[in-house]
Amino acid sequence: MADDRAKLLAEFIKPLRVEPGSKVRLTKDFDPGYKAGFLKKKDGIPLLQAGVAVLEEYQARLAAQDTWGVLVCLQALDAGGKDGTIRHVMSGVNPQGVRVSGFKVPSAEELEHDYLWRYAQRLPGRGEIGIFNRSQYEEVLVVRVHPELLDRQKLPAAARGSGVWNRRYREINDWERHLADNGFKIVKLFLNLSKEEQRIRFLRRVDLPEKNWKFSAADAREREYWDDYQAAFSDMLSHTSTEWAPWYVIPADHKWFARICASSVLAYTLMEIDPKYPEVDKAREKDLAETRKLLEAEAPKGAAADPARAELAARAREDKAARQSKHARKLRKRMKKVRAKLAEAEGSHR
Ligand code: AMP
Ligand code: MG
Repeated sequence: MADDRAKLLAEFIKPLRVEPGSKVRLTKDFDPGYKAGFLKKKDGIPLLQAGVAVLEEYQARLAAQDTWGVLVCLQALDAGGKDGTIRHVMSGVNPQGVRVSGFKVPSAEELEHDYLWRYAQRLPGRGEIGIFNRSQYEEVLVVRVHPELLDRQKLPAAARGSGVWNRRYREINDWERHLADNGFKIVKLFLNLSKEEQRIRFLRRVDLPEKNWKFSAADAREREYWDDYQAAFSDMLSHTSTEWAPWYVIPADHKWFARICASSVLAYTLMEIDPKYPEVDKAREKDLAETRKLLEAEAPKGAAADPARAELAARAREDKAARQSKHARKLRKRMKKVRAKLAEAEGSHR
């Protein structure tokens, strides 16, 4: 089953990955409305279920192993769906193992430091999943589109010149490589929204009172810079998708599809790490056996010595039955169908 899921996820996310070294022209190479041949939300359910189940299971192992950490960097234009994606992706996991950090206009204190300082402060620890809602990539996106933001960064003259963006790409790549080499997997998701879908989502924020707080006239004015952003995103994807920290372009016009994509990429990454529960050594095994004896001896009159053991055995029997059930067989069949559909759709995307 685990193997089936890994294969399904790998095939599903392949067309979203930006091959390291490739030159990306966003508007030509990636379609914000792509749906992998799915017609409706319903078609994506097997993938959604596989993603959520894998996330839950592997996050628990990641935390127990306490060796690897995972950093998810989320980038998008306004209304791209970052908040909803985070809510969805995290819905099945233990909140204790996840840390979400958002990045806004830098504070006075942050401007007193190099531009990566504030991101370094919020990195996940081992065993944790860290999610950056906006990330170090703002430093080559909004700061590039609005050069006056760069002026505010108090840089020495030599650090500003014309080579500044290529230098930042190199610095970010080096920083991420350092993290990857030391046990931190980095997953970078760009939610790719079309200009028309952004217009519609902005209007929804205007029309719905409970969405008003999320909207400002400045957000709409930023649309004037649409083409500059597309160019900045394209350049960023071309220069910073690396073997150790690849970019995935998530088609974002259909929210349900974007969420399946995001959780699939994260689930696949966790399967690649394949974290294991720590092994119990002989001494500890002996220790546990002795503890069991002590607890069993404390059973009150008439109570079973170890009711937990019977319960676990019953649960294992149930799990086995569930794997062999009609429902599970149906799900596996549907996953197979999805894979066939993906194979068919491949090539029509890029
Ligand atoms: P929001 O995430 O919608 O609350 O908005 C945060 C705002 O902070 C966005 O407009 C970002 O473009 C802006 N922002 C994030 N990082 C930076 C940065 N390094 N320099 C300037 N503005 C930034
Ligand atoms: Mg905003």
